Amino acid sequence: LMFGKVKPCNCAAAADRSPAQCNLVLLGVTGSGKSALTVKFLTKRFISEYDPHLEDIYSSEETVDQQPVTVRVMDTCDQEGPVNSERYLSWASAFLVVYSINNMESFKGCQLYLHTLALHNKTPIMLLGNKLDMDRYRQVSRCDGELLASRFGCVFFEVSACQDFLSVQRVFHEAVRRGRSL
Ligand code: GDP
Ligand code: MG
Repeated sequence: LMFGKVKPCNCAAAADRSPAQCNLVLLGVTGSGKSALTVKFLTKRFISEYDPHLEDIYSSEETVDQQPVTVRVMDTCDQEGPVNSERYLSWASAFLVVYSINNMESFKGCQLYLHTLALHNKTPIMLLGNKLDMDRYRQVSRCDGELLASRFGCVFFEVSACQDFLSVQRVFHEAVRRGRSL
C-alpha cells in the first residue's frame, strides 16, 4: 500500500512544523469497516481484506476549504471494546465512531466508545453508519443512528467504504473541519 505511515512518537515533533494539522481516530468494533474507510480515504481504493489486528497511524496532506492541512488517521483495533483509550483520547482532534448498518452488534458495540468519549468530555464526534451498500440487509435504521448521534451530540453520516470515494472524503473532511487546529 502506497501511503505514508508515521509512528505516534513522531507526531508531536511533526506537528510543530505543520501550519495546520488534524488527528483523526477511528473507533468501533472489529469488522465495522474502520480500516476499509481509512484505506479508501487515503488511496481512493476499497481493500476488502485488511489485517484485522493492525493498528497504525497514517498521514496525508489534504486541502480542506482551500486550506492545506496535515491529517493523521489512527486506525484502531481493539480486541474487546474500549481499552487503553489513553492512547488516542488526548491525541485526537476528532473522533469517528463506526458501526455497520447491517450488524446490530456493531451498533451496540459502538455505544461503548461513545460512552468512553462522553465520560472524558471528548468532542467533536462523527457517528458513521458504514456499509450503506448493504442496505437490503440493514439491521440498524437511519433513524436509530440519528437518535444515537443526537444523544451524544455527534454529527451523523451513513457511508460505504466500497462505493464512491467522494462521499467518504466528504466525511473525513467534515471531521477535519470540526477538529483542526492552527
Ligand atoms: P475493521 O475491523 O473495523 O477495521 O473492519 P475492516 O475494514 O477490516 O472491514 C471488515 C469487513 O467488512 C471486511 O471484510 C471488509 O471488506 C468489509 N467492509 C468494510 N467496509 C465495507 C463496506 O462499506 N461495505 C461492504 N459491503 N463491506 C465492507
Ligand atoms: Mg481494522
